[in-house]
Amino acid sequence: MTEFKNFIDGEWLATGRTFEDRNPVDNSVIGLVHEAGQAEVDAAVRAAQAALHGPWGGFTVQQRVDLLYGVADEINRRFDDFLAAEIADTGKPHSLASHVDIPRGAANFKVFADMIKNVPTESFSMETPDGGHALNYGVRTPRGVIAVVCPWNLPLLLMTWKVGPALACGNTVVVKPSEETPATATLLGEAMNKVGVPKGVYNVVHGFGPDSAGAFLTAHPGVNAITFTGETRTGEAIMKAAANGVRPVSFELGGKNAGIVFADCDFDAAVAGIARSAFENTGQVCLGTERVYVQRPIYERFVDALAVRARSLRPGRPLDEGTTFGPLISQEHRSKVLSYYEKARAEGAVVVTGGGVPDMPAGLEAGAWVEPTIWTGLPETSPVIREEIFGPCCHIAPFDTEAEVVAKANDTPYGLAATVWTRDAGVAHRMGRALDVGICWINAWFLRDLRTAFGGAKQSGIGREGGVHSLEFYTELRNVCVKL
Ligand code: NAD
Repeated sequence: MTEFKNFIDGEWLATGRTFEDRNPVDNSVIGLVHEAGQAEVDAAVRAAQAALHGPWGGFTVQQRVDLLYGVADEINRRFDDFLAAEIADTGKPHSLASHVDIPRGAANFKVFADMIKNVPTESFSMETPDGGHALNYGVRTPRGVIAVVCPWNLPLLLMTWKVGPALACGNTVVVKPSEETPATATLLGEAMNKVGVPKGVYNVVHGFGPDSAGAFLTAHPGVNAITFTGETRTGEAIMKAAANGVRPVSFELGGKNAGIVFADCDFDAAVAGIARSAFENTGQVCLGTERVYVQRPIYERFVDALAVRARSLRPGRPLDEGTTFGPLISQEHRSKVLSYYEKARAEGAVVVTGGGVPDMPAGLEAGAWVEPTIWTGLPETSPVIREEIFGPCCHIAPFDTEAEVVAKANDTPYGLAATVWTRDAGVAHRMGRALDVGICWINAWFLRDLRTAFGGAKQSGIGREGGVHSLEFYTELRNVCVKL
C-alpha cells in the first residue's frame, strides 16, 4: 500500500496517524496519508525559516532560475509518474490530465523563473529643497515563509501556480495539499531533492483543515504570508487566523459564474465553449459556468444543442480510450452535488438532461459518478442559481437585452469569471467593462496567458496572482532613497 508521508527539511516523515486516500473512480483505497499534527507543522515551518538563512538565501537570481527550470524539467522527465498520481487521486480522464494538469504544473516553474529575471523595479529621481537631487529605487525582497493551502480540483496545477512564483522570489514554502489529493505534492518533494533544491525550501504537511495541518499552518506565527485557493467560507476562517500578526493573504475562492450567449454569436463555437465551461473536469473548475443566459431568438435551439453535448459525454475509466468524463472527487462531494439535483427538482426545474447517477459498468458502481445536468425554468432566487454547486451542471435562462443580462450576471456575491459569446465587438468590450468579475472571456473560456492577472472580485478572492501581480504578493517592495 502506498504511503504519503510529510516532506519536511528534505526528509520523509511518517506520523503513524493515517487516513485513507481513495480513488473516486471506484472508491478503492490508493494509499494511506500520514496526518501532520502541531509538532510536524512546527518542524516544517522551522525548516522553512532556517532555509531562508541557509544556502537558498544566498542564491543569485540566476541560480534560482536554473533550479526552477530543473524542477520543471524533472516534472516533464517523470511526466508519467505525475500523470498516474494525479489520475489516481482525481479520476480525471487521461486526455484532460495529460493536456492540462501536468504540463501546466511544469510550465508554472518556467514562467515565473522567466518573470523574476526580466521584470524591472521602479526608479524616481527627485529634486530636493536644498537644490540637490535624490534617487529612489525599488528593491524586491522575499516575504519569508509562505503557507500554500490548496484544493483538490487541479492539485498540481494550482499548487505550482503558487509555489513557482514563491520560490522564484526567494521565499520558502510549506504546502498543505488537499486531504483528497495528497499524491502530486508529495511526488514533487522527490523532484525537489533530485534537482538539488536546498533542504527546507519546499515542505509538505498532510492533513485536514480545522484542528489539523491546515489550521495549524495558517495560525503559525512563523508563517509570513498565506496563499490559499478553495472555498469562500474556508477563506474567512483563514483570514481570521492571518489577522494574528497581520499576515498578508492572497485568496482565490469560489464562484457562481455566468455564461452569456448573444443571438449573433458563432452558434457552434458558443455551444462547444459553454459545454466545456459547464462540464470539463466534471464541473469542478472554479471558473466553470453554472448559470447560462441565452438571448431569446436562439434560446430553444441552444438548450437543445447543449443537451446533445451533455449526453455525448462518456464516463468511464480514466485510461479507457473514449472516456471524456470523470467522477466527482469523493462520495461526500457527490452527496452535496446530488442534494442540488434534488433541490432543483423539488423547486420545479425542467430537467433537460441528466439529474441523477449514471448506470456504470461492473467495478465502477461505487465511484462518485453523477450525470451532466441541464435545467431550465428556475427563478433567479433559487439556491441552485445562487450557490456554488461545483458539479457538472448548469441552469439556462433566456434574456432579451444587454442591460437585463448584465444585471442578472452581476446579481451574486461572487465575482470570479464570465464567458461571453458574441460577434459584436461593441457588445464584447461593453461586457468586459460591465461584468463585475476578475476574468472576462469573450468567445473563449479558460484561455490563460500566465502573464495576466488572475483572481476574483467580491467574495471570489483577494488580490491577483499571475505575471508581475504574483511578484507583488510574494515580495516586499522596499524603496531605497539615496540623497546625492
Ligand atoms: P476547501 O476550502 O474545502 O479546501 C481547500 C483547502 O483548505 C484544503 O487543503 C483544506 O484541507 C484546507 N482547509 C479547510 N479548512 C481549513 C481551515 N479552517 N484552515 C486552514 N485550511 C483549511 O476547498 P476544496 O473543496 O478543496 O476546493 C473547492 C473550492 O475551491 C471551490 O469553492 C472552488 O470554487 C474553489 N477554487 C477556487 C479557485 C480560484 O482560483 N478562485 C480555483 C480552484 C478552486
